[in-house]
Amino acid sequence: MNAATDGGVLGSLCSTADDLGPDEVVMLRDGRTGASAVVVVDNTACGPATGGTRMAPDVTVDEVARLARAMTLKSATARLPHGGAKAGIVADPAMPEREKEAVIRWFAQAIRDLHSFIPGPDIGTDERCMAWIHDEIGRSVGLPAALGGIPLDELGATGYGLAVAADAVAAAGLLGLQGARVAIQGFGAVGTHTARFLAERGASLVAVSDIGGAIGDPAGLPIDELIAWKRAGGQVAEFAGGALLDRDSVIASDCEILVPAARPDAVTEANAHDVKAMLVLEGANIPVTRDAEAILHDRGVLCLPDWIVNAGGVICASAEYAGEGRAQAFERIAETIRENTRLVIERSRQESVLPRLAAEQIALARVRESMSFRRSWSN
Ligand code: NAD
Repeated sequence: MNAATDGGVLGSLCSTADDLGPDEVVMLRDGRTGASAVVVVDNTACGPATGGTRMAPDVTVDEVARLARAMTLKSATARLPHGGAKAGIVADPAMPEREKEAVIRWFAQAIRDLHSFIPGPDIGTDERCMAWIHDEIGRSVGLPAALGGIPLDELGATGYGLAVAADAVAAAGLLGLQGARVAIQGFGAVGTHTARFLAERGASLVAVSDIGGAIGDPAGLPIDELIAWKRAGGQVAEFAGGALLDRDSVIASDCEILVPAARPDAVTEANAHDVKAMLVLEGANIPVTRDAEAILHDRGVLCLPDWIVNAGGVICASAEYAGEGRAQAFERIAETIRENTRLVIERSRQESVLPRLAAEQIALARVRESMSFRRSWSN
């Protein structure tokens, strides 16, 4: 294991390097297979750092560092006893299963002594990968139920959190959920459950897309049937119901709530003016660019930042690590996201700043408060 921890080296490796972190950047190479990986432990003031393990052929140190910083802010905002980290394994996740298992087991052994990092799943890895890591070193989250895991995508932890954020907006008197029209970009783990939980609150799904296309119905789409169709392997555009729409037009749907839940940069300067929703809930990570957030804010559209409203998954993983069950995890999600959404709305209004800036101020204050308890002298 080769740890690069010198400040100057870190500065050249990671655009995020500052007084918060990274604590450690660890470069790994398997001499036998040639596989390589990087772990960035950004900040551990709140506790050992949790973070996804991304497997992609083009993953870079700086990308991992930026994602690790996002985890620091997300965990601190959710008041979890964890810092932020991320790992990237440079490999094609579509490799044969046995080869993938060998790479993951190598990675697990390579981080055996890096106790400040608790790996979770991310793009290219799943609960089976986390089970292999757990088998090797006994330290990972996002595990299968047989190992005490809470199946957060199956239960819809993140979608539930997004609906709770909508509750907080309603409680602030900014929007009624009964009869609210919802448009969702991306109908996967996050999008399907968001639709379901918002429908429980009286909202209706009027437009939805996946990678293959989009459909809409001003009178409301049948959510349970649509979810069953997706689970059976169908695409939304092939569903017998609703009118076919241009895939990317979902962003500009006539609706009160827009949920981009697919990919980064879905709302940019180019289409932010077309958004008709009053509320944007960022289900995906960075689905709205900073410039677009500013445009939405100026137009009076409330756009709630990703790490405030999509923290359900990370809260669930933390509950799993603490040995808690599903009910406790969902209670924590509700409590945390309701309160953080309220705080962001309040601060953003009081100080006339973008919700993202308000959220950043809250997150940074919490990280710095945790850092103030660190020993300030060396032995
Ligand atoms: P998923 O793979 O289950 O679903 C993604 C959906 O987006 C699919 O329906 C796919 O067809 C669709 N999609 C992809 N590109 C699209 C496009 N250009 N237009 C419309 N639809 C498109 O993934 P997920 O777990 O639902 O995650 C979605 C996003 O939310 C990702 O950015 C993820 O990183 C983020 N996120 C997920 C969680 C979680 O708990 N799963 C938590 C926080 C953030």
